[in-house]
Amino acid sequence: MDDPDVIVVGAGNAALCAALAAADSGAQVRVLERAPEAESGGNSRFTAGAFRCVYDGVPDLRVLMPDLSDAEAANADFGTYSEAQFFDDMGRITEYRTDPELCELLVTRSRETMRWLQRQGVRFLPIWGRQAYKVEGRFKFWGGLTVEAWGGGPGLIDTLYRLARAKGVAIEFGAAVTDLLADDDGVRGVRVRRAGRSGEIAAKAVVLACGGFESNTEWRTRYLGPGWDLAKVRGTRFNTGDGIAMALAAGAQPFGNWSGCHAVAWDRNAPEFGDLAVGDGFQKHSYPLGVMLNARGERFLDEGADFRNFTYAKYGRAILAQPGQFAWQVFDAKVAHLLRDEYRIRRATRVTADTLEALVAKLDDVDAGQALATLKAFNAAVATDLPFDPNVKDGRSARGLAVPKSNWANPIETPPFEAYAVTCGVTFTFGGLRIDRTGRVIDVEGAAIPGLYAAGELVGGLFYNNYPGGSGLMAGAVFGRIAGESSAAYAA
Ligand SMILES: Cc1cc2nc3c(=O)[nH]c(=O)nc-3n(C[C@H](O)[C@H](O)[C@H](O)COP(=O)(O)OP(=O)(O)OC[C@H]3O[C@@H](n4cnc5c(N)ncnc54)[C@H](O)[C@@H]3O)c2cc1C
Repeated sequence: MDDPDVIVVGAGNAALCAALAAADSGAQVRVLERAPEAESGGNSRFTAGAFRCVYDGVPDLRVLMPDLSDAEAANADFGTYSEAQFFDDMGRITEYRTDPELCELLVTRSRETMRWLQRQGVRFLPIWGRQAYKVEGRFKFWGGLTVEAWGGGPGLIDTLYRLARAKGVAIEFGAAVTDLLADDDGVRGVRVRRAGRSGEIAAKAVVLACGGFESNTEWRTRYLGPGWDLAKVRGTRFNTGDGIAMALAAGAQPFGNWSGCHAVAWDRNAPEFGDLAVGDGFQKHSYPLGVMLNARGERFLDEGADFRNFTYAKYGRAILAQPGQFAWQVFDAKVAHLLRDEYRIRRATRVTADTLEALVAKLDDVDAGQALATLKAFNAAVATDLPFDPNVKDGRSARGLAVPKSNWANPIETPPFEAYAVTCGVTFTFGGLRIDRTGRVIDVEGAAIPGLYAAGELVGGLFYNNYPGGSGLMAGAVFGRIAGESSAAYAA
């Protein structure tokens, strides 16, 4: 096989967007993926395929989803998601630390990049199930997250592979890149390990898109801090920070929130790494409808502080900080029908009971007496003067408690009761490499490393402390496309 113009390291969403864009720009592209084919696609394959993008109502959505029927459009209130809203969400959620240039590219290119993906052949549909509740017979979307890829993460990855191959992109599995071939003139290829044998592949440019360091226990503990060795990994076992390590060795500048990550409530008995047969089903994201109790039987966070899209990514850390690194989510029959689909999987760690007394006795490793007292105090504190409405921040709160609940508070009083055991599931890490507007990797002196580009999780600077749901795939697509175009232009 001839040496390619551009090597793309990794075969997730960011990598494939880079490969498509580079191939469209005329480059010969080779994708090198560490995982065997059956486990390939990285974290992107584990997703639900939700993309956070700017749109201005139904006409814009119709461009992305030409098969949205008139009846479907009439039966839903999609609202809008403006650039101003996306900027606001990124600012507020990251406590105004997001890098202004990267954030500007993410927000202002999101709509056009979704259209580019659609033109490439990716199919989209509305997230009926998870991002919309039915109000008076009509779906109402909330949280600025409205569009998902057809077939979720697996559908997205399979489509991207098919589209890339149709453009002549070679995808090699079981090919772990271990080093960059670099000298004073920049990067000129990679060292790769296949089936235990090392070799070199020359190329004019390299795009690193091989994920963060979430699956590296030692790095997690070193950078995220004590206790992070005990977290479960939600997705691929292959994202061990290789791309970051090899770029740093070539002089790249570390950038972003190295002690921060995306981590959620995740089934306490889930396996150590993600299981593609279950996908994201181990997550437990409906806590805004109930309460969470720790081993002491106490609440420890405001379950209703904001829409779940804006709290779920930081609450994993809060759960990890509890004794034993676990919590129980408790719901009653009033809200059971509103729980997300992941609560109905067979492998959920669930207990049910007809009385609160019987329920707390079933909560493994919890102080049952205190749990009962906490639930009763919570029920007594719910202010029922405002109506419950899951589509808006309804202001229906539980007040006067050490830990308030700011929205969607309902007394937990209607049997049967349900509780789910969760721990911390880490999704991806926020620290990584510094890139410029054209996707070039920046070195410790502030200069671009010739021939080296990056996209996806291993780019630092976008997310700090927290994350607005659906931004990972969007960022991978925006910056993957940029890196693909730039690397092809450099290689030409
Ligand atoms: C369960 C779950 C659900 C999620 N849901 C969503 C969602 O709905 N919407 C959203 O926006 N985000 C979601 N995310 C986050 C999202 O998955 C990531 O932000 C995004 O997919 C990262 O894309 P990426 O291409 O950078 O990395 P990945 O998709 O992880 O791809 C990295 C690839 O690099 C490969 N690799 C690693 N090391 C090497 C090496 N040395 N050599 C060669 N290849 C290597 C890996 O095998 C992997 O295939 C979810 C994540 C998880 C885990």
